Amino acid sequence: MTKILIIEDESRIASFVSRGLEAAGYETQTVEDGGEGLAAALHGDADLVLLDVGLPTMDGFEVLRALRAERNTIPVIMLTARSSTRDTVDGLDAGANDYVPKPFTFDELLARVRSRLRETALSPGVSITHGDVVLDVLARRATVGGREVELSTREFALAEQFLRNPGRVLSREVLLSRVWGLDFDPGSNVVDVYVRYLRGKLGAAHIITVRGAGYRWE
Ligand code: CA
Repeated sequence: MTKILIIEDESRIASFVSRGLEAAGYETQTVEDGGEGLAAALHGDADLVLLDVGLPTMDGFEVLRALRAERNTIPVIMLTARSSTRDTVDGLDAGANDYVPKPFTFDELLARVRSRLRETALSPGVSITHGDVVLDVLARRATVGGREVELSTREFALAEQFLRNPGRVLSREVLLSRVWGLDFDPGSNVVDVYVRYLRGKLGAAHIITVRGAGYRWE
């Protein structure tokens, strides 16, 4: 049975979410504290995490960073009351797969949960190779010429988009949507910044800037 870990200190929201998810056929576990939530995500058997931002002992961003620092790739949806794009981008940069701003309707949340679980189930456990660059999607490891390269969650996701679409121009809008889950441009140069990181790590010649259009993997 698919299990969802709810890390949320507001018991009213936690029980509303948990009752709904159980009615939809999921098993749930609720933890009210950030530190305990991190332990449950790392050592438990949950398939997806719903993560509040304001939490006792560790906030949601800290929990998420600690989880990703352990190379844990469990899908995480952040529940945030903050609607500023800065917090959204921070959360996604910290390795969140999605976010749902509070207040939300249960149907809205359930749709996000289903879609994130579907992505996980569909992601093939294969390596993608292009030239000297190899991405092991399941193990989340990248190598260049046989040498392992450390990529953050977001850098890896960006590299995966390029390697799955070699020779094709990917616009900033497409990359924002596929890598950051944003269907709007937060007005930052986040894509360009991450392309620069990737060039530094995978080799500058691989990613070509196509003026006015986006980027292309050569
Ligand atoms: Ca809270």
